[in-house]
Parts: sequence; structure tokens; C-alpha cells
Amino acid sequence: MNALAHSLVSTPSAENLWERMLDCLRQDKRDYALSWIGRMQPLEVREDTLVLAVPDRFYRDWMDNHYRKLMEATLARVTEQPSRLAFEVVAGMAPVPTLQPAPAVKSDGRRPPRLNARFTFQNFVVADSNQLAAAAAQAVADSPGRAYNPLYVYGGTGLGKTHLLHAIGNKIWERDPTQRVVYLSSEQFTNEYIESVREQRMPEFRRKFRDDCDVLLIDDVQFLGRKEETQREFFHTFNTLHELGKAIILTSDMVPAEVPGLEERLRSRFNMGLITDIQEPSFETRVAILQKKAQHEGLDLPDEVAHFIARAIQKNVRELEGALVKVSAIHSLSRHPVTVEFVSHVLKDVLPTRQVVDVESIQREVARYYKVPVESLKEDRRHKALAHARQVAMYLSRKLTKGSFPEIAARFSKDHSTVISAVRKVEKLRETDAGVKRELDELEAKLTGE
Ligand code: ADP
Ligand code: MG
Repeated sequence: MNALAHSLVSTPSAENLWERMLDCLRQDKRDYALSWIGRMQPLEVREDTLVLAVPDRFYRDWMDNHYRKLMEATLARVTEQPSRLAFEVVAGMAPVPTLQPAPAVKSDGRRPPRLNARFTFQNFVVADSNQLAAAAAQAVADSPGRAYNPLYVYGGTGLGKTHLLHAIGNKIWERDPTQRVVYLSSEQFTNEYIESVREQRMPEFRRKFRDDCDVLLIDDVQFLGRKEETQREFFHTFNTLHELGKAIILTSDMVPAEVPGLEERLRSRFNMGLITDIQEPSFETRVAILQKKAQHEGLDLPDEVAHFIARAIQKNVRELEGALVKVSAIHSLSRHPVTVEFVSHVLKDVLPTRQVVDVESIQREVARYYKVPVESLKEDRRHKALAHARQVAMYLSRKLTKGSFPEIAARFSKDHSTVISAVRKVEKLRETDAGVKRELDELEAKLTGE
């Protein structure tokens, strides 16, 4: 005879088992869950399975999706072993009034604290660099606790880890507001832990993270490194939730093995589910993100401008977004058309410094390129090769530094008309002479790092 059936020999019926389960739930103040679960009736015990009668298929599916885990965990507490439940539709079954507690809805219908409605799957741009992480996050949001538990997403800063974490929480909560979604960073977890110890509120702390939590989202888990006591607490939190089949999703800036000072047992827990990374976005992805955000901001962003920004900001989606917000704000105040020139002006402070090329670095690069001494660019010698190098350096200075003619002329110890005619000459050559065009392209690429 199996264990559950055995426990029923001494405790005679499915009814008894059921009553004890309801008691557990009442003790835990799971009022809202009870208002649903209480409508079932105990039918019988089959092997290791307690069979419950449900009024219809809709109700059965709902139970299956939302309360099976909780109920099986409760049943396991009552029988003290892993036990299963089955639901059977019994036509004409009426709700049982005596079992219905006052449906004090625990969820007040408000989004869980700290969960930011701004971060959703809808506004997350999926591309090569984040495809696996996004798909895994979707899977977890669709069946929390079943798919990939835990899900561990890692990657560099500003690449969308926090965004995905919120998106998971939002999706689960929006589908079922009774789901208790707890989001916080590992630093906040650490602080709450320390505070609870100091104020002797550990039971409350444990209730919050172990009992009153269906989905735990922990951001930037790398900050747990070297915090031994917090790690110990987190380890037990993790185990409790994991055993109950509650979803755990973690982000970090590195793989578990690399997090300094992370205990081995936590590391191995983090490795239990799926580990996936987010990489730096490609040029195409950066353009797509810019276009999506522009659309969202109601900003008309010409391709040329999107390309310019995407080329200037390469590593970080947060910076990409910041640049766009700035352009959008200044555009809406000034009504200036969104051109490359406008954008490079607006963003001059945020664009990486290598974009800001000065006359000296141009002179150095040009001298090296044509294998002439730097000083010769500032002299008057008319040797043809020297004159060409000098004119190219002036042209590039004008083009890349946006300095005025007199400013540039001073750096070459010439007067400004010399610079003007040099720039004109090289402009013309660029159009007519393929060899010169190639030289200029190469030099510009070197100087701007593109
Ligand atoms: P991380 O947590 O990895 O440092 P965040 O999730 O905070 O990065 O992302 C930084 C900013 O970039 C956020 O505003 C986020 O909405 C945005 N972002 C990142 N990746 C994407 C993406 N693929 N699609 C849309 N927005 C993104
Ligand atoms: Mg983050």
C-alpha cells in the first residue's frame, strides 16, 4: 500500500484529508485562494492521488493553472510526503457554501511594489543579441515555475536584463493579479535582511520571501557575493520556493562561476535551470531599437539620423535610449528638424570622446599616413607630397572638428584663406579622384574609429 493511501487508513477519508488541507490554507490566511479552492469537493483517494470534484472544465483548467502547485504543496504538508491531486468534472455540482470563507481578496489589484509597468515584452526589441534570453523570459512568464527554474540572465550593463525581469513580472501579474510577484535587487534583499535581523523581524522577512511569494525576481544577483549571511538566508529562500515550484528569475552581470565570493551551493542552485546571456546589440539592432523608441515618443526619425546615432553609441541600449530622449526633448522645444547636424550638436556631450577629434590628432594621423614629419604640415614647403598631406589635414580638420577657418589656420601657422582653398581643393579631388577618395575614407575611419 502506498504512503498516502496508508495515511488514509488511519485517517479515514478523502474528506478528512481535504478538511486538513483547508485548515492549512486558513492558517496561512490564503483567503483568496480559499475562495476558489473551497468550491471543490473531496471525491476519493486513488493510489497516491487525492481526487477532487470540480463543477466544470473551465474551473478545472483554472485550478490546474493557478492552484495546483499550492494545493499539492499543502497536501504534501498534510500527508508529509509528495502527493498528487486530480480534478474530475462532476456535472451538476453546486458550490459548497459552508466551505466558502469571506473572499477577502488578498491582492488589492495594485501592481506589486517596485514592478515597473514601463518594461514589457511588447516594447522589448528582440534581435540576435537577446533572442534566447527573450524567448526564455517569455516561456517563464507563460508557465512560471515550470519552465526553466531558475532562469538566470546575464550580460553587460544597459543591455535589457532589468527590462526583461520586469516584463516577466508584469506579464504574470497582469494575467493573474493574485500571483504574488516580488521584485527587488540583491542589494535591496541584503538591506531588508540586515534590517530584519536588527529589528528582530525575521519571521516577517521569511513570510514575505518564502510564504507570500509566487514569483521571485532578483536583479543584479552579483551583489550577493561575499555577503555570507545574506547568502545563507537567500539559499534557504531559494530552496523553499524552488521546492514549492515557485518561479525564480535572476539577473547578473556575469555567469555564476564568475561572481566573486558566491558560495558553491548557491552557484550550483543557479546552474539548475537555464543560464542565458544578452550580448551587445549589433548595428541593425541598435537602429531597430532607436526606431521603435522614436515611434513610441512620436518622433519622426530619419534613417540617416538613426544610423548616425547607432554608429556613435555602440555598447549600451540605455545610452542609446538616453540620446534619443534628449534629441526628442530638444526637438520638441526648438522644432528644429531632426538632421544629422542637429543631432550631433544636441548629443555632443554624450557621444563618446573618440568622436571628438582635434586638429592635433588629425595632424598626427595624416603625417603617419603619408609618412611625413608632423612639423612639415605647419611649414611652408611646397614639395608636392607635403602640400597634399597638409591640404588633407586641413580638410579633415574642417570636416571633423567643425572648427572655424581662422581657428584651424592658426594650428597650421597659416592664414585662413590658405585653409579655405585647401578645403575646396580636397573637396573637389574627393569627387574626381578615386585614389584620393580612398585615402580620405581610410583616414576618416581611423580618426573616428568606425
Ligand atoms: P540592464 O539591466 O541590462 O543594465 P536595462 O534593462 O536597465 O539594462 O536596460 C536599459 C535601458 O535600455 C532600459 O530603458 C530598457 O528599456 C532599454 N532596453 C534594453 N534593451 C532593450 C531592447 N531590446 N528593446 C527595448 N529597450 C531596451
Ligand atoms: Mg539592470
